Amino acid sequence: MKIAILSRNKKLYSTRRMVEACQARGHEARVIDTLRCYMNISSANPEIHYKGENLTGFDAVIPRIGASITFYGTAVSRQFEMMGVFPLNELVAITRARDKLRSLQLLSRKGVGIPVTGFAHSPDDVQDLIKMVGGAPLVIKLLEGTQGIGVVLAETRKAAESVIEAFMGLQANIMVQEFIKEAGGSDIRCFVIGEKVVAAMKRQALEGEFRSNLHRGGSASLIKITPQERATAVKAAKVMGLNVAGVDILRSGRGPLVMEVNSSPGLEGIEAATGKDVAGMIIQFLEKNASPHKTRTKGRG
Ligand code: ADP
Repeated sequence: MKIAILSRNKKLYSTRRMVEACQARGHEARVIDTLRCYMNISSANPEIHYKGENLTGFDAVIPRIGASITFYGTAVSRQFEMMGVFPLNELVAITRARDKLRSLQLLSRKGVGIPVTGFAHSPDDVQDLIKMVGGAPLVIKLLEGTQGIGVVLAETRKAAESVIEAFMGLQANIMVQEFIKEAGGSDIRCFVIGEKVVAAMKRQALEGEFRSNLHRGGSASLIKITPQERATAVKAAKVMGLNVAGVDILRSGRGPLVMEVNSSPGLEGIEAATGKDVAGMIIQFLEKNASPHKTRTKGRG
């Protein structure tokens, strides 16, 4: 197969591993800088041009679109889908996953457990919002945040009010979530490929910190997940429409709660913690599933 990897940087661990895995399995891999793709959307034959060349002949595309280039990256991805190239994840699903509120709404609609979550726009509604989600302690999250930045634990109602009002004053979109204390500063990253959890790791926050992000100094270790956790992760990926997803789960007193579903999960942490060839499993998924014009949405949306 000829596989395009949409990535801004060849040297990133995940990008490198995808290239290695393609080559190890006898495929041709090409890393394409998303922001250097330009498109003719007026022609009947959708095309993508790249540094003067007309890109053709790809069997599959692996979109790895960073949060900062979501807008342009999804347009490039859509163009590949319109050309009939099989995407690892469909752009409609990627767009869903990028929107934290939309994701949680979709998950809750399909009965996937999530922490009690609220959101409001007006400072006039803050007091009632806090009451609605069960009062302090509360986690307040900036919707645009990643890697744990903009995730705040407010221990008291007063603190929660001040933080929410401050964020609202800055015109930032936020959500307010019950604090899952039982998780003990840890979460579980389930790596889902094609309706299976192929690897899972536990991330534990530093002492005195509740955010377990590896970027915040958290440490990763191998974990055995329960059948219920496994089923929850698979269902969450399915609800989002993602073939490949990183599903983040909190262990709560009332069972697994999905915090977030990531459409471009990193490979470095999970491969290091589990010793598994996750990149190879992704390419195997493409081998089994990639055929032209096979997406559910065909670039619509
Ligand atoms: P980001 O997308 O920026 O990583 P998350 O929503 O994943 O933000 O939150 C960062 C970390 O904070 C999580 O990995 C988890 O350890 C912790 N956390 C987030 N929400 C909650 C919550 N409701 N209860 C307990 N811990 C939480």
